[in-house]
Amino acid sequence: MSIRTNLTQVIENIHSAVHKRSKTLINESKNVKLVAVTKNHDVAAIQEAVAAGVLAIGENRIQEAAKKAQILQKQVEWHLIGHLQTNKVRQAVQLFDLIHSVDSKKVALEIDRIAGALGKRQDILIQVNMANEDTKFGIASKDALTLAKSISNLEHVRLCGAMTIAPFYDNAEQARPLFRNMCQLFMELKDMNLANTNIEWLSMGMTNDYIVGVEEGANLVRIGTGIFGQRQY
Ligand SMILES: *Cc1c(COP(=O)(O)O)cnc(C)c1O
Repeated sequence: MSIRTNLTQVIENIHSAVHKRSKTLINESKNVKLVAVTKNHDVAAIQEAVAAGVLAIGENRIQEAAKKAQILQKQVEWHLIGHLQTNKVRQAVQLFDLIHSVDSKKVALEIDRIAGALGKRQDILIQVNMANEDTKFGIASKDALTLAKSISNLEHVRLCGAMTIAPFYDNAEQARPLFRNMCQLFMELKDMNLANTNIEWLSMGMTNDYIVGVEEGANLVRIGTGIFGQRQY
């Protein structure tokens, strides 16, 4: 299957998932942004995806993203979807339009400091570890709104929503309750009406589970394998 064919299928699946949303989500925007996850794929593959209409690229390693961005420049949006350590914040702020993976006050403060120095306002999402998995990054759901509140006081950071990664299930239906709770948390975050924020994005869903994610209210999905095929490591 070509990248273009895969992409068409993914976009079709997203559209039909939007139409299967429950009535409680009827007032939510029907626009879903697709981030094509290109980790371990080369620039030629990314260029093929861009030619087929991809507008946003997701990478989880800063070094790898920086190399690709040197070639591709700003013809696409760059999204950081992997864990961010404080010592990598400078590069991240220089490169990324949206950072999905902020999970502590410490890293948010460092983003604020660097963004201020660079004269940038950095858009970020809070990563929430909804399933409380030891193996995953993300803040515990019970602490997410407190973190949001403290981030809203930072001048050079703009909180734009939240992101979660579901555990890997054989059947994506198993992720549905978790996605539903995550959407609930997202709505609470919106309803807080925090100054300085623009709570717009709910980033939830990968190749294995994006259809359920969108059905449960995701408006940002991160898809690699479903577009590019299996990654070679
Ligand atoms: C790799 C990755 C994805 C994409 O995974 P696929 O299963 O290939 O779609 C999405 N989100 C994050 C955080 C990732 O690391």
